[in-house]
Amino acid sequence: MHVVIVGAGIGGLTLASALRGCDVTIIEQRPVAEGIGAGLMLHDEALDALRSVEVDIVGQKFSEFRLGLSGGREIRSIARSGQAVTRSALHSELLNAASHASLRTSTTVKKFKESAEGVCVWLSDGDKVNADFLVGADGLGSSIRKLLGSNARRRYSGETCWRGLSDLHSGQRNPIEIWGKGRRVGIVPLLSGTYIYLTHAVPAGAPRTPAPTDEFLQPGFGVENLIQSVPEDAWIQHDLDELSNHTWGTHRVPLLGDAAHGFTPNLGEGAAQAILDAIYLAGNISGVWQYPGPRYRRNVRIATMSRWVGRVGQANGVWASVRDNMLSVLARRPL
Ligand SMILES: Cc1cc2nc3c(=O)[nH]c(=O)nc-3n(C[C@H](O)[C@H](O)[C@H](O)COP(=O)(O)OP(=O)(O)OC[C@H]3O[C@@H](n4cnc5c(N)ncnc54)[C@H](O)[C@@H]3O)c2cc1C
Repeated sequence: MHVVIVGAGIGGLTLASALRGCDVTIIEQRPVAEGIGAGLMLHDEALDALRSVEVDIVGQKFSEFRLGLSGGREIRSIARSGQAVTRSALHSELLNAASHASLRTSTTVKKFKESAEGVCVWLSDGDKVNADFLVGADGLGSSIRKLLGSNARRRYSGETCWRGLSDLHSGQRNPIEIWGKGRRVGIVPLLSGTYIYLTHAVPAGAPRTPAPTDEFLQPGFGVENLIQSVPEDAWIQHDLDELSNHTWGTHRVPLLGDAAHGFTPNLGEGAAQAILDAIYLAGNISGVWQYPGPRYRRNVRIATMSRWVGRVGQANGVWASVRDNMLSVLARRPL
């Protein structure tokens, strides 16, 4: 069986790792397949799924996710265990596990034709490849989803985000997110140093700065040292987007991860769900076709919850005060 996977990201490489024994080709548009971004939290279910394909991640363990208000108090502690890792470390583990696959970089899929027997794939470098399956694992802006004719649109959530890695230790044992007015700060302890993310509610057309603005340095967030320890040109800025609707592709051309159901990262679930999609798809690809099966409802639920958490988290002005007053009733202890 020959499987062509488009996208050497988290989902695509997990699928390749799970298809050991098959002929696998990975198509990646970038010149080098690497983990772009700062850090990532993976819960135990995703880590177990990775272990099932012999990818054993060694990250900073956490046992809860804490939520607080700026200048103030912890409002909630969610029992959630897993590990926090850098994207580059996760990516190199996945690349090792998928080393049996043939990786073709700096190319993409121009068009494909499905038949009952398989898929014929034309690449942008002029090559033509025949495969049994073509899997779109090419992220939120998926070209395979577009070639399938999906009407899913990329939708701005109202927030932009900066992510960075600091050499400093935050003094926290578990990840914490602190909500201010139109701004959120996330602090995630790593084995060495800290992953920090900052979100700001800004209108769609407004200018974005490459590094976070000084408003994040207010003492209310308590992260001045961490922010200042990240070199200005090392921040990675992205708008937080989601897909307007989910698309899972066809039997010969299935989609997974962000390509299928890209949602906002407010629950820290996107990579975990891409991994779980990949493992489920690998178990179904050559048998009775049951994809997306249970993956469908699970991802709709996460997308909806994630959107709502984002809306409450990015509240600004009077809405932020109303939110904070209501949440303060639940406040447990000083941060
Ligand atoms: C700020 C932020 C924080 C996050 N934090 C977390 C977290 O803590 N935990 C978590 O589980 N998730 C988190 N996520 C979500 C997570 O990063 C994504 O959901 C996850 O990376 C999706 O994996 P994927 O394999 O579907 O796509 P990606 O990892 O995006 O991989 C897609 C790959 O396809 C390639 N590609 C794209 N287009 C083409 C093309 N046309 N041809 C060939 N190749 C192509 C890309 O170069 C890339 O290598 C976060 C996201 C953001 C933005």
